[in-house]
Amino acid sequence: MYIADTHSDTLFSLGVAGRTLAQTDITPDRLRAGGVTLQTFALWSGPKGPDGDYAAIAEAEYAARQQFIDAGIPQVDDPAQARDGQPHFMLSLEGCEVFQDGLDKVALWRERGVRMGAPVWNNENELGTPAKKNPTDGLTDYGVKVVKEMQRLGMAVDVSHLNEKGFYDLFMKGDKAPMASHSCCRALCNHFRNLTDDQIRLMIREGGFIGVNFYPAFLSADKKADSALLARHIDHICQLGGERIVGFGSDFDGIEICPEDVAHPGQIGQIIRALQQLGYPDAAIERIAGQNLLDYYARIK
Ligand SMILES: [Zn+2]
Repeated sequence: MYIADTHSDTLFSLGVAGRTLAQTDITPDRLRAGGVTLQTFALWSGPKGPDGDYAAIAEAEYAARQQFIDAGIPQVDDPAQARDGQPHFMLSLEGCEVFQDGLDKVALWRERGVRMGAPVWNNENELGTPAKKNPTDGLTDYGVKVVKEMQRLGMAVDVSHLNEKGFYDLFMKGDKAPMASHSCCRALCNHFRNLTDDQIRLMIREGGFIGVNFYPAFLSADKKADSALLARHIDHICQLGGERIVGFGSDFDGIEICPEDVAHPGQIGQIIRALQQLGYPDAAIERIAGQNLLDYYARIK
């Protein structure tokens, strides 16, 4: 089964926080043990915001990806290049501060294999405003230009962390359906980072993609979660009609606590079992596990 995960912060852990592969949630051995086909590694370039040293941080994280290549996990430029049976990784940006320095930077990072980018993390920048700040300030004019350039070059635009106005701006002003790399359902857990049912319905109608985040604080008001609760967020999106646009967006190495029975990619099978317990047939589980992401990238080509 092709299993994909659309978000993790492992390269920040390795390249900036100074951890080793023995200390991260995601390791080559755990990717193999979990049967993960495609792991997305984010370049989280904006922890200090638009005035921080985002370019140097992105470079350090980009360099850290070599540790996975050396361990036999190849980088791919497209999800379709990842062959089932062996883990691969693809790059994304969490916070596109590196694009503040000119539209030409989009092509530079695309050339390096970045296929997904969230315009903002939790800090306002020259592209837009995060959900953490307010729901009403949308993408800037420059942000719209960046988004169009990203989409022209085949880079998925990621709404996770973006506020509601920015989300709707993407559908009104962008050229292709966006995706959410690591977001849960507001109807099940009322957190500003989660998507409302209206947002999820628009994603479904326009052919986007939603990778459900594993973070207990986004899954449950009491911040306690397990694979069964994670499966309920997936099920909620399916109930709204999203069985063909939902998948996994773990946020491993970006979250300080994990669901009690899904602490790393080696345990991703627990979610598959939880979906089976909800009555999902194998064909639906295969779509959710990875095929939906493959189909999304085929749609935005
Ligand atoms: Zn995040």
